[in-house]
Amino acid sequence: MPVSADATEREPADTDEALPINELFYSVQGEGRLAGVPTVFVRTSGCNLRCWFCDSYHTSWEPTHDWLTVDEIVAEVEAYEQATHVVLTGGEPMIHEESVALLNRLGEAGYHTTVETNGTVYRDAHIDLASISPKLQSSTPTPEKDPTGEGEWAERHDERRIDMDALTALVDEYDSQLKFVVTGADDMPEIERLVERVRDGTTTTVADADVLLMAEGTTREDLDESRNAVAELAMEYGYRYTPRLHVDLWNDAPGT
Ligand code: SF4
Repeated sequence: MPVSADATEREPADTDEALPINELFYSVQGEGRLAGVPTVFVRTSGCNLRCWFCDSYHTSWEPTHDWLTVDEIVAEVEAYEQATHVVLTGGEPMIHEESVALLNRLGEAGYHTTVETNGTVYRDAHIDLASISPKLQSSTPTPEKDPTGEGEWAERHDERRIDMDALTALVDEYDSQLKFVVTGADDMPEIERLVERVRDGTTTTVADADVLLMAEGTTREDLDESRNAVAELAMEYGYRYTPRLHVDLWNDAPGT
């Protein structure tokens, strides 16, 4: 059930538990410790940040969506009969209170649930894996990098991109991985500082293998230029390298 960029908006009835859905599709998890696992992706629309490199532009910079009730989403997920894993992604799915109801329903139905989050909002829900991608200073949409060319979001983005209370609560409450989009070696000191702050602020053991480095880039051509350097940084620092398998397999095709 792809909900395309020109999807018609349908405001839900007041009583509906509904979410703004950008797309819902069956693919292979491309990133992180579950890379390669066939998975249903539920992509909500709307984000509290504006990374210049956002790989889901139509959930952040120009959000588009249709409203689906939790019942409708679960029915769409169940239509993929062979699927056992579901990823709730965005945008930032945790800005929506209704994500809790959806995750709890999916958990009750026996699905393994992953939430892909920027780590700035904590919610209490059925989450088997919190895949947390804290946004580094290099993600800030400075006027030179802002895809809209307006530069209006830089300050807001920078103020919001790290919330240590939410980040440490997610790590303490859920099985988690910290996944950093790396634009170059200059990002590493900030990653090291942030990992130490998380370790200091949690009671959970955050192993180096729970810290994933992922190359920035949404096309094979981008990754051809960056993936080897990021793999070498993972080896140098002892963190884990994560591929972007879906890009390797399908490049930047929608619904993958
Ligand atoms: S946090 Fe994620 S969805 Fe939001 S703007 Fe950044 S990359 Fe896009």
